[in-house]
Amino acid sequence: MTNLGSRRRFLRNAALWAGTALAALKTGTRVAVAAPVFINDPFQLGVASGDPSADGFVLWTRLAPDLFDPQALPQEAIPVAWEIASDRAMKKIVAHGQVLAHPEFAHSVHVDVTGLMPGREYFYRFHAGAAVSRVGRALTWPTPRGPADRVRFAVASCQAYDEGYFSAYRDMVAQDPAFILHLGDYIYETTRIPPVRRVPVADAYTLEEYRLLHAIYKTDPDLQAAHAHCPWLYMWDDHEVANDYARDQSERTQDPAVFVKRRIAAYQAVYEHMPLRISARADASGRSYMFQRSDYGDLAAFTLLDLRQFRDRVACQTETDHSGRVADTTVCTEITNPKRTVLGDTQERWFGSNFVKNPAAWNVIAQTLMLSEFDQTTNGGYAVFTDSWGGYPAARRKIINLVRDRKVPNCISLGGDIHSYFVSDIRDNDKDERSPILMSEFVGTSITSESTNYALYTSFLPRNPQIKFFDDRKRGYMLCDVDRTVWKTALRTVDDVRVREGRFATLRSFAVENGKSGVQAT
Ligand code: FE
Ligand code: CA
Repeated sequence: MTNLGSRRRFLRNAALWAGTALAALKTGTRVAVAAPVFINDPFQLGVASGDPSADGFVLWTRLAPDLFDPQALPQEAIPVAWEIASDRAMKKIVAHGQVLAHPEFAHSVHVDVTGLMPGREYFYRFHAGAAVSRVGRALTWPTPRGPADRVRFAVASCQAYDEGYFSAYRDMVAQDPAFILHLGDYIYETTRIPPVRRVPVADAYTLEEYRLLHAIYKTDPDLQAAHAHCPWLYMWDDHEVANDYARDQSERTQDPAVFVKRRIAAYQAVYEHMPLRISARADASGRSYMFQRSDYGDLAAFTLLDLRQFRDRVACQTETDHSGRVADTTVCTEITNPKRTVLGDTQERWFGSNFVKNPAAWNVIAQTLMLSEFDQTTNGGYAVFTDSWGGYPAARRKIINLVRDRKVPNCISLGGDIHSYFVSDIRDNDKDERSPILMSEFVGTSITSESTNYALYTSFLPRNPQIKFFDDRKRGYMLCDVDRTVWKTALRTVDDVRVREGRFATLRSFAVENGKSGVQAT
C-alpha cells in the first residue's frame, strides 16, 4: 500500500470514529461500536428478504460504506436495528430488534424473523447509527398444507455482470411476483471478453475477491429492486465458486485440499450477501446445507437441490482439464457407473423421504441444471454433457424412479445453467413415446450470460423428441402462474442486455394441466 493509500484509510477511519463518543458495548469478548458514524451510505448494497415461511422470513443487509475498501469499517461488531411494519410508510411497526453486524462476516446482517401472520405482506428497514436503509417488502407464505389458491413467481439464473445489465429484474418487479426463485450462477468467478461493464476481479480465489464480486453485482439497481420487492429462494450452481466444479474437484485441477478452502471462502461470500438462514453457513467440517423444501400452502412444494457440493467428479477428466465436455457414453464408460452420485448420500436420503411426503397440488424439483435427457451425438451414438445430469445417469434415474414408484402427482422440474430455454416432458423411458410422462421441465434462459449454441442444439432436436421447445437467442427469465387447475410458464425475454433500457416480451407460454401430464403450448 502507498503512503497516500494508508493516509486516506486513516482519515476514513478517523471520520468513522468521529462523534461516536466511544460508548463501546461489551458483547462477549467483542467490542461493538455503539453509535457509528459512516463516511458514506452504509446500505448501498440494498436490502433483501429470503426463505419465506408461514410465520416469517430472513432479512438481510450488509454494512458497506465503501465497496472497494474492506477497512472502511472497523474490525468490530456494529449494532444494526431492524423493524417490520404492516404498511409501506413504516408507521405500524409489528416487530423490531437489534443484531450485531460482525466483521468476520463482512458486517452482513441476517435476521431470522418468526412470529408473523401467514399469507401477509410486510415492509422492513434497517438503521445503523443515523443511517437508514431503503424499505423492503416481504411476504409470508400460507400455512404449510393450508389452503392456497394461486401464486405468481419468477425463476432466474446465470447473471454475468460483465456481460450485460440485469434489466430482466426490472420486468420481473413490474410483473409483481410473490417470490423469486434463483437457480444459481448469481455471480461468475471469472470475467469474459468483451465486457459490457467491468468487474475488477479477473479470477476469484480468495474470500476478499468473492466478497468484492458480490458487492459489485449488488450495485445493479434492477437487481437491488428485485431483492427489495419480494423474498427470494436461492440455490447456488457452479460459478458462485468455479466453473464446472464437483465437490473437491476444480476444472483447473487445483489441489483438492486447496480447492475446498477456496470453495468454503466462496460459500461464505454467498452467505454474507444473500438472505440465507444461519444453517447455510459452513459447519465445522466445511459443509453448507442449502438443500431444503418450502411449501406454499397446499398449492406447491418447492424442493431445492444442491447439485455441486456433494457430487462425484465430472467423468473422464484428463490430467489437465476437469471441466465438463460432450462425451459418448460408450467411449466414456465412467459415466454409466451406477455408484456415481450428484446429491451425495445425506442429501439423497433426505430427498428420498422429504420429496414424497405430503405432496402438494404441484411438486417442484428446483435444481440448477437440466434434468431432461439431451442427446448431443453427431455420429449415431449417445453423447451427453458430462457436467450436467447426462454425466450422472444413475443418479438421475433414482429421481425419475422415485417420482414413478411413489406416484408423486403433478411433478415439475425447474432448472437453469444452460443459458437456454428448454421445455420438455420427462418420460419413464424417453425413447418410447408411449411411456408415461412422469414430469414436465422448464429450464430458464440466463439473465445475461451468453449462449451461442442455437444452430448446434437445433440440429440435435430431431434426436430428442422429449424436448418440446428450445431457444437460446434471448436472455430473460420465467414467469410462473400457478393455481389448482393449471401451471403456466411464460418465457419472458429482454431484447438487448448490452443497454440499460432493454425491452421485454413473452417469447412463448406453456401450460401443464393438473392431473393431465405433459406440457402444452398456449
Ligand atoms: Fe451460467
Ligand atoms: Ca452453471
